[in-house]
Amino acid sequence: MKPSRFEYTAPTSLGAALQALQDGGDDARVIAGGQSLIPMMNFRLAAPEKLIDLRRVQELTGISQIEGGLIRIGAMTRHRAVETSDFLLQHLPLLPAAMAHVAHVPIRNRGTIGGSLAHADPAAEWPALCLALDATMVVAGPSGERLVPAADFAQGVLTTALEPGEILKEILFPAWPAGRNWGFTEIARRRGDFAIVGVACIVDRDAAGIVVAARIVVFGASDTPVLSLEAAEAITGKRLDAALARAAGRAASAAIEPRSDLHASADYRSQLIEVLVGRALQQVLP
Ligand code: FAD
Repeated sequence: MKPSRFEYTAPTSLGAALQALQDGGDDARVIAGGQSLIPMMNFRLAAPEKLIDLRRVQELTGISQIEGGLIRIGAMTRHRAVETSDFLLQHLPLLPAAMAHVAHVPIRNRGTIGGSLAHADPAAEWPALCLALDATMVVAGPSGERLVPAADFAQGVLTTALEPGEILKEILFPAWPAGRNWGFTEIARRRGDFAIVGVACIVDRDAAGIVVAARIVVFGASDTPVLSLEAAEAITGKRLDAALARAAGRAASAAIEPRSDLHASADYRSQLIEVLVGRALQQVLP
């Protein structure tokens, strides 16, 4: 199918994009990589009358380290740019590794971090990664900028904290401490499909190998990614081994009530949570 008719504009500054969004009111929508919005328009699930292309807005691009050691990724940064970034490989290694699970290379060449976060598919990797890394979203609107923690950004299926007239500008990630380890795993029907369930985790240990902090995020199971405090509690203050990793999986699974849908039953997802949390944590082991 073809989309319904729309007007198109490609502003070159964030201010102009925000103005166009305000002028367009309910009929306007921004477009980033188009990898979710265009299929929705083709199926007539979305029919914006005015499309505001963010592709030429320089303020939304780039990957850099800023004050306080924070790492800034502009919302228009493409999945593939993250995957192939030597800087991120060194400073936030979980991100490039996880990108290999996002769709396929042609889609990763166009799709953006901001588009994925704003789209808020419960099975998408980006919302989970931002939650695992305790990122902060910088949101620009008609009256200035505001900060939204990743934990508050995804609010439901295809629903975020973005208000009408706002644009996600960039994402700020805390610096990655020396010695941090990470795990990432997911089950999808085919490579490149959205995950049925996935897990992203980071684990910090002291010099004696005792876990001092962990963030373990399950995605694809519920309407938004879930930070499993139960799994983190199961391993914190202890020396992580395979048995403890499996115990954390059981703790996570017991605390999450997954959804059933066309792709998998809640029971199957419960089993996947247990197994995948255990596997992700075992990736952390020496
Ligand atoms: P667009 O499609 O351009 O926009 C998506 C939505 O976000 C729109 O509502 C738009 O208005 C809004 N938006 C975009 N940018 C901003 C912004 N800066 N501020 C405010 N609102 C904004 N994704 C995964 O995570 N995992 C997968 O396994 C996966 N598999 C896929 C398989 C296929 C076949 C396809 C077509 C897509 C798949 N995707 C997957 C989705 C892909 O990652 C998209 O890139 C992503 O969901 C949307 O990013 P985009 O830049 O294309 O956004």
